[in-house]
Amino acid sequence: MYKKCIYCGAEIPEESVIDFCSRCGKGVWGEKMFNAIVQNMEEARSKGDLVSTNLPETQKEFKNF
Ligand SMILES: [Zn+2]
Repeated sequence: MYKKCIYCGAEIPEESVIDFCSRCGKGVWGEKMFNAIVQNMEEARSKGDLVSTNLPETQKEFKNF
C-alpha cells in the first residue's frame, strides 16, 4: 500500500512515518535535518508500539477485532 507525498504527490510506502517523500523532505529541511526528523519520528513510533503492547489483556483482544 502506498500513500502520497503531500508536496509532489509521489508514492511513498504506507508504513512511512512521514507524509512526504525523501526528495521533498531533503529539499525542505536539507539532508541532515531530514534524516534527524525521520529518526525522531521512528523512535516516537516505536515507543508508541511499545506502549500499545503493554495494554491490559482485555484491551489487546479488543484491538484484534
Ligand atoms: Zn515529494
